[in-house]
Amino acid sequence: MTAESSRRPILSAAPKAEYLAARAEIDAAVRRVLESGRYILGPEVEAFEREFAAWLGVAAVAGVANGTDALELALRALGVGPGDRVATVAHTVTATVAAITAVGAQPAYVDIESESMLMDPAALERVLAGGGVKVVVPVHLYGRACDLPRIVALARRHGTKVLEDCAQAHGALVGGAKAGTVGDLAAFSFYPTKNLGALGDGGAVAGQDAALVDRVRRLRQYGWSERYVSEEAGRNSRLDEVQAAILRVQLARLDAGNARRASLAARYAERLAGLPLRLPSAGPGGVHAWHQYAVRTARRDDLRAFLAAREIHCAVLYPVPVHRQPGFRADVNLPETDRAAAEVLSLPLHGGVTESDVDHVCAAVRAWFAKG
Ligand SMILES: *Cc1c(COP(=O)(O)O)cnc(C)c1O
Repeated sequence: MTAESSRRPILSAAPKAEYLAARAEIDAAVRRVLESGRYILGPEVEAFEREFAAWLGVAAVAGVANGTDALELALRALGVGPGDRVATVAHTVTATVAAITAVGAQPAYVDIESESMLMDPAALERVLAGGGVKVVVPVHLYGRACDLPRIVALARRHGTKVLEDCAQAHGALVGGAKAGTVGDLAAFSFYPTKNLGALGDGGAVAGQDAALVDRVRRLRQYGWSERYVSEEAGRNSRLDEVQAAILRVQLARLDAGNARRASLAARYAERLAGLPLRLPSAGPGGVHAWHQYAVRTARRDDLRAFLAAREIHCAVLYPVPVHRQPGFRADVNLPETDRAAAEVLSLPLHGGVTESDVDHVCAAVRAWFAKG
């Protein structure tokens, strides 16, 4: 067999590789929880909340069941309810908008910037000028932080709060600040494929205002202020001890994992340079968390099929903008959002990708361009 035909497929995500890389520590952490007899909201969750708050540089963190709940409970803590308008983008995972509609609010869509594929501050300004927006939810998609300095300044001017969607941005920086430390609150997901991933569902709300985070802490457990007594109507969205213990192991490995992602991203940039392919960047003054390596080409579907035929599997995040999905359809014109959805392709970048994989992917991309 040639080296080529014996090559294993390159997957678009590989959460098992993240587990295997830390297997002994994770197995020990899970066993510790199983033997402790505490399975929900115990010492592991408390320790993870403290450690994640310290890593991020915020006053407080509340662990919740998943990233969508983190967004939903954060919106509720910020006072968003039925009839309110929340400004966000449609070039995101459905979850961002699902959280907004779950609290009875309406998404007010903001188009994205072509270069970054993130919320366009100029478009946000027009939406805010329309009035009635209670919260802005910028989404730090692919691991690149939005232009938070401008977005927060605009929001402040309109008396609007900011909730950062940090589900893809653990470790991203903009203007010297970590994503998740600048807005009024920030929502994180620990879905297994995120830069910081559990081996199941998990999420967290972070913030500099401990009282706001405390409100999330109440809302995640029926609204209880003390056991069996609800101060307000909440729900159940608890983080469990097993996932928190796993997250503590992975948090200690997060900076190294992000550095590895950055080195693979730099290798992609070097080997793809000069091709008529739009490559991602961190943007001015930014540090990218490289959750995805999202390139753009007008012939995306053809490139994706060419790579898939060579067992290189690429994800498209996200092929249908939220405002065009049947469950969330909205009559709004978002030309840059539509263009990105048609052109974007994520080249494999995760804990299971090696430098040789990157070289192999880049050679295949070059072969695709060479064939015309
Ligand atoms: C993953 C993700 C979410 C939702 O997180 P879940 O844990 O799957 O609920 C929200 N926003 C963005 C941008 C995400 O990538």
